[in-house]
Amino acid sequence: MERKVFLKNMGLGIMGFLYAAKSFAEEPKNLKNNTMEKFDIHVFPALPYAYDALEPNIDARTMEIHYDRHHRAYFNNFTAAIKGTNLENSTIEQIFSKVSEAGDAVRNNGGGFYNHVFFWNNLAPKSAGPSADLTTALTREFGSFEKFKELFSNSAKTRFGSGWAWLYVTADKKLAVGSTPNQDNPLMDVSPVRGTPLLTIDVWEHAYYLKYQNKRADYVEAFWNVVNWEEVSKRFKEAVR
Ligand code: MN
Repeated sequence: MERKVFLKNMGLGIMGFLYAAKSFAEEPKNLKNNTMEKFDIHVFPALPYAYDALEPNIDARTMEIHYDRHHRAYFNNFTAAIKGTNLENSTIEQIFSKVSEAGDAVRNNGGGFYNHVFFWNNLAPKSAGPSADLTTALTREFGSFEKFKELFSNSAKTRFGSGWAWLYVTADKKLAVGSTPNQDNPLMDVSPVRGTPLLTIDVWEHAYYLKYQNKRADYVEAFWNVVNWEEVSKRFKEAVR
């Protein structure tokens, strides 16, 4: 090997090592976790896995920017918007149920804060299937599990502009699929789809553009490989109780 090539390779090796060490050091840890059952509006929760945990379906760079920049900004702006108001002592459910009265800063940033926590928690590196009870309910409502996936995927693909697709439980305890614009969600009084959310996908371009560019459909298909069905099944059990 030529000396020049050898030195170049060695240099790349060191850079690779430094990059890996840096990524490891920057992974979120020792942050208090936030659960959906008892959602703490004052806590910016840890990501439940490493940035690269969902590769290749969701790439590490996207996860890092999405969590650490986009999500954190929604949390910070929400915190600023409720500071000094009586909303500081409310639950997220109370805030969303009257969000039309709270103003756009609370609606957009509160939604952005909550929806992303919800989204991170319904993703996981290893995906088993839904529980027997949830499978039965999905089949009853949509005809089959595959038909449900198709409906949900179409809802995600056809949401014009930025927003979210949802599987949720309606007030009369039925499963339903729909989408919301911007950072709205089914807990909000302004939302045309209302109920208890079980599963969501972020279809803002920032969620997929680095890896998939304009191909939202490919991102939606890859999403199914990393759905945390244990979490979704748990949410379903609580929602229909
Ligand atoms: Mn997002």
